[in-house]
Amino acid sequence: DAQEATEIKEIGGSPAQEEYMKNIINEFSLTTEHLCKIRTRFMKEMDKGLEKEGCTVAMIPSYVEGRLTGHERGQFLALDLGGTNLRVVLVTLEGEGKFKTVSTKARVSDALKNGPMRNLCDYIAECIDTFLTEQGLEDKESELPLGYTFSFPVLQTKINRGTLSQWTKGFACTGAIGKDPVMLLQDALLRKHLPVKVSALVNDTVGTLLSNAYNKPNTLAGLILGTGANGAYIEKISNIKKWKDGPTKSPEMIINMEFGAFDNERQALPLTRFDNKLDRESINPHSQIFEKMISGMYLGEIVRNVLVDMIDRELLFSPKGTFNPNVWSKEISTMWAFETSFMSKIEEDDTENLSQTKEVLDTSLNLSNVSVVECRIVKKVSELVGKRAARLAATAIAGIVSHCGIPDEGVDIGIDGSLFEFYPSFKTRMYEALQELFPEHSDIRTKIRLGLAKDGSGVGAALTACVATKAEGTKVV
Ligand code: BGC
Ligand code: MG
Repeated sequence: DAQEATEIKEIGGSPAQEEYMKNIINEFSLTTEHLCKIRTRFMKEMDKGLEKEGCTVAMIPSYVEGRLTGHERGQFLALDLGGTNLRVVLVTLEGEGKFKTVSTKARVSDALKNGPMRNLCDYIAECIDTFLTEQGLEDKESELPLGYTFSFPVLQTKINRGTLSQWTKGFACTGAIGKDPVMLLQDALLRKHLPVKVSALVNDTVGTLLSNAYNKPNTLAGLILGTGANGAYIEKISNIKKWKDGPTKSPEMIINMEFGAFDNERQALPLTRFDNKLDRESINPHSQIFEKMISGMYLGEIVRNVLVDMIDRELLFSPKGTFNPNVWSKEISTMWAFETSFMSKIEEDDTENLSQTKEVLDTSLNLSNVSVVECRIVKKVSELVGKRAARLAATAIAGIVSHCGIPDEGVDIGIDGSLFEFYPSFKTRMYEALQELFPEHSDIRTKIRLGLAKDGSGVGAALTACVATKAEGTKVV
């Protein structure tokens, strides 16, 4: 359309570059109509997953029933594994919807992510050990309850039991699939004689929902838009057709959707050749297709794939006939070298000559002497990929909300993760898409309230440990 044509003109590229930009703008843009189509399929997949085991969107009952009251009190440990960092958190629930946290962060090396699960668990136990010592909790007489946020698809059988069905997000430890992550961790804690009992196993989305609900009672769902992507929401037990575990105390249960796997069949998602390349080269091809279009682990790589394609066609960084030996970068040809955080910095750049973009390309990717036109191209590609991600993430929320219905008072959606927290315009773009998907509401932001649930997974795991401890009849301080 006209606006698109102006945008392309403003880049100021050669006719060949303009032609290329025009094509990828088409490939990456999602019309309202297309979003509606995706939502429809999303809702169908939700229903399927609620009906039987083994569906693409797994819809896993979390064994966390009902909602919390906000009156819960006590001290709980939480462990958060599955994003970029491993975190140990000490959560003090103070009642009245308030809590305090102290935490420590450690990076999980690629060697640990790909080695034996036993090594990873020993490393986690070591981190917990150090943290307890720092907090003066190492020789506590009674065992500390620990909520374990393990952010991978786990088929749960109890609040603190389950089996890992597959790895995602670049993890590939041996000796873990088909096993219970709680037992593996508890064994490592025993090997170190730590006074800690893993009393709850929680997906990060479930934790995010719970922590958001602790002070926003109208919370319907929790999402992670970070390294990976997924959501959890509150479902009526009567809608969970596959539920066979007998009567529950509450009429509701939180469902860990595992929507990152949505449309692995490629029926509705607008996959481009750049997405296909990424999927093929990933360690989990044909899996987590939706997640690969919306989460932080992958967006930068999609941008890099586009840029490399342009380089191969002599359209970028020494375009045809202008060979410049100073522009040469090994990094741009290296998988994963273009991080999603670079996109954030580039999208945020509002300097006239795009000096911040130039700086990122220079210092992080070793691309020097990049022209302004090239900076504009890189920025536009980042925008296309970032915007598509936000619109798809919004469509998932629309699916959940349409499935459950919007009450008069509206719903709160708690969201954690680096994309939602730091990526410029991510939230605005999500709201734009939601407005398109719900034209019957004049201001969707008052009906579907997206809020940052900072540290949601840690606090949520502690809350779950609290609930589990209560359920066992143990005294909660
Ligand atoms: C995992 C989910 C998790 C999400 C966000 C996905 O890769 O399968 O369990 O909730 O990442 O961390
Ligand atoms: Mg996390």
